[in-house]
Amino acid sequence: MPDKITVGGVDVDTRHWIGGRRVASSGTFTDHSPIDGSVLGEIARGGADEARAAVAAAREAFPAWAATSRTERARLLHAIADGVEKRIEELSVVETTDNGALLRSHRRGVMPRVSHNFRFFADWLLSLGHEDFETRGHTNHVSWDPAGPCVLITPWNAPLMLATWKVAPALAAGDTVVLKPAEWSPLTASLLADIAAEAGLPAGVLNVVQGYGSEIGDALTSHPDVRRISFTGSVPTAKRIAESAAAQLTPLSLELGGKSPLLVFADADLELAVDLAVEQYDNAGQVCLAGTRLLVEETVADEFTRRFVEKATALEQGDPRDEATDVGPTIHPRQLEKIDGFVQRAVAAGARAVMGGHRKDGQYYAPTLLTDVAQDSEIVQEEVFGPVLTLQTFAGEDEAVRLANDTRFGLAATVATGDRDRAERVTARLVAGTVWVNCFFVRDLQAPFGGSRQSGVGREGGTWSFDFYCDLKNTVTAPKGWNHD
Ligand code: NAD
Repeated sequence: MPDKITVGGVDVDTRHWIGGRRVASSGTFTDHSPIDGSVLGEIARGGADEARAAVAAAREAFPAWAATSRTERARLLHAIADGVEKRIEELSVVETTDNGALLRSHRRGVMPRVSHNFRFFADWLLSLGHEDFETRGHTNHVSWDPAGPCVLITPWNAPLMLATWKVAPALAAGDTVVLKPAEWSPLTASLLADIAAEAGLPAGVLNVVQGYGSEIGDALTSHPDVRRISFTGSVPTAKRIAESAAAQLTPLSLELGGKSPLLVFADADLELAVDLAVEQYDNAGQVCLAGTRLLVEETVADEFTRRFVEKATALEQGDPRDEATDVGPTIHPRQLEKIDGFVQRAVAAGARAVMGGHRKDGQYYAPTLLTDVAQDSEIVQEEVFGPVLTLQTFAGEDEAVRLANDTRFGLAATVATGDRDRAERVTARLVAGTVWVNCFFVRDLQAPFGGSRQSGVGREGGTWSFDFYCDLKNTVTAPKGWNHD
């Protein structure tokens, strides 16, 4: 197996990164581009041995990294951010080729945010407070102590973005990391290892292992030396990880799927509401937060649908490297199969495809809108993770909220209304980790991010990330007992 492949003119090392060295595996898996199905190369296929080696490297590097001053840790995170900024074009091209999301989004939005992830947590670390208070003359000193090696497992829909939401706070907290990217989009994690090494991050502080979750996952998540597991991905995988982590009671952060509602009230700016709804096809709908259930007040439903279809059918679908493209491919033939299965079963059960409802050439799926769907049907209750929206109508706030909250998920919700009082009433009743009012996808790293119910466990962002990646300690000191004052 060659150690390097060239993707869009960029060299990418296909091996693991363990203890500051590139490490090959005896086996490999094949990485394809979703753009045209072409083979990008053979990637190291890690198993239990590589998992153990990576955790051992993270464990060895931990004491020195935990003892490194906050200012030095922050400096190194900023140096990584500099490295990301220098390579935005390369990272964007590789990510788009590997996962099919739009090149223009990677260039202008996603990769700058990757660099911001490092800067944000570096700066937050420097301002992370020590909370001292008194109890009957005794002082309480609260500190955020580094916890140890962390296993970070990430999905393919926004590979580097989601990985660095975890890597940056974990490193800032003084933890060491084993990152396992998804096997359908393994490449930018390897570039991150290069960037971190060039920035001067000591060996073993960041390790990257590649492979199938089913083959390398258990050895990582059940390892007794791992102090935290942070996972973004699907609910079934999260349940397996939770079982595996239970052996050591390793604390978990789980960012999972969703079936988020987008509520459109009759008093909303309808043009804005239509724009928000059309936005849900971004990344071919492969977005955890996507508001895939359009809930529209019945009095405006026909008008909304007419304007929505007009706008959505004008979306350009095609090669994600073209500036003009709005909707790219699905990630993998298996994902395409899964999406089409959901749609065909829904149609067989009586749903009407007002738009789309079929595959296109290659790995592309036509943006789809389904009406006449029952609340308890599979298509309304289960995450499709493709460009498929359902539309249901409601009469009044109570019904809107009841439909919105009636799934096992609770990741996000969007409300379009022109009435402030209504916005307050409705948002207070929605079960969701993030609620947007007349906007979508605005995310500040200071805010807690995560899901309720089966959309997740815990929150990431600002203090919440440090609370997760650190061992919080309260030291209580008596006013007496000293040899000197
Ligand atoms: P997935 O659960 O199939 O895989 C995610 C990761 O888990 C991959 O790296 C995979 O290799 C690994 N994995 C698989 N089996 C494992 C095991 N037994 N042990 C350890 N690791 C294992 O999810 P996916 O298909 O890659 O991603 C799509 C899902 O992710 C969707 O449900 C989506 O909603 C969710 N997601 C959630 C968020 C969020 O922030 N809440 C963000 C993006 C995606």
